[in-house]
Amino acid sequence: MPDPHHKLLKQLKSSSPPVRKDDYYQLIGIGETFYRPLHDNTYRDFKTNPKHSANLRELADIAARKGWHVHMHATHDKSISHFLDIFEKVHKTTPLTPLRWVFAHADAVGPGSLARMRALGMMVAIHSRTTIQGRMYHKKFGKKALGMPPLRAIRDSGVRWGIGTDTFGVAPYNPFYTLWWATTGKMLDGSVVHNQTVSREDALRAHTRSNAYFLFQEDNLGSIEKGKLADLVILDRDYMTVPLDEIKEIRPTMTMVGGKVVYRSSSE
Ligand SMILES: [Zn+2]
Repeated sequence: MPDPHHKLLKQLKSSSPPVRKDDYYQLIGIGETFYRPLHDNTYRDFKTNPKHSANLRELADIAARKGWHVHMHATHDKSISHFLDIFEKVHKTTPLTPLRWVFAHADAVGPGSLARMRALGMMVAIHSRTTIQGRMYHKKFGKKALGMPPLRAIRDSGVRWGIGTDTFGVAPYNPFYTLWWATTGKMLDGSVVHNQTVSREDALRAHTRSNAYFLFQEDNLGSIEKGKLADLVILDRDYMTVPLDEIKEIRPTMTMVGGKVVYRSSSE
């Protein structure tokens, strides 16, 4: 496979930063693969070489100068720390903070990397992947898997974090499954796969307000407030008070988008 560096570099050089065109579809940035030769795989060791690192540095540099948001796949602390070595150099000439660059997954991110991310204004996008892959993580990482992803450590680090599913090919797309996973540590068969549970308030905030910030849409989305879009859902039970295990049973009874009712359950 030809190295994608030259093609991407050319595209970035002639690119304009993304502009939001409407409330439904938005080109946000570059991701989740930024540079294929340095794309890490959860189940394999991360390897690099000086040529690939130099190429990523060049790509990151031009992406930052052109004003692109980057949402980059990175699962191991080794890869995250390698990317941070590069991004810190970029940050010296082009501040990354306004661009809100993100590491996606960050299953094994360590405290040192979190502190470095915080200094760059970087964020972390967590996915409920172990709702399905929990056993595979335990087979691969042993007891370490209980701390993956380190939700509590991320929350306590002060780095902005959001949660989601990483598409329905990776985890069930139902957001209440993700909220249940974050608050109980359980995978779909009911066994506990992580011990980094957070409160239901923390999980909800990460899935709503924080995710809106990832989209540069914090003035429009993420909470029900005057001045924001009237996008809301009415649920069949109270997320804040139901037993934690019932969170995944929550269903919408009505959904509104832009103030218009777009869904009503037949049992309502
Ligand atoms: Zn990914």
